Amino acid sequence: MNFGSNASLDLAALRESQERDAMIAQAIAAVATEGAANCTSCGFPIPEERRAAAPFARRCIECQTFLEQEKFHR
Ligand SMILES: [Zn+2]
Repeated sequence: MNFGSNASLDLAALRESQERDAMIAQAIAAVATEGAANCTSCGFPIPEERRAAAPFARRCIECQTFLEQEKFHR
C-alpha cells in the first residue's frame, strides 16, 4: 500500500470532521435533554422509546402525528 504524503492530512481532516459531528450531536442532545422531557403541546411526559428514537423531538407521538397531518391537509 502507498499512502503518499497526503495520508496524514486526510486522516487529520477525517478526525476533524468526526469531532465536529460529535460536537453537533452533543449540542443536539443538550437541547433535547433540556426541553423535551415533556411534550410541548400536551405536557405529558414523552416516552423514553420516542426520545431514544428522536432525541430532538419536543412533542409526544400523538401531538406530532396530529401536527403532521394538519400540515399535509393544507
Ligand atoms: Zn403531546
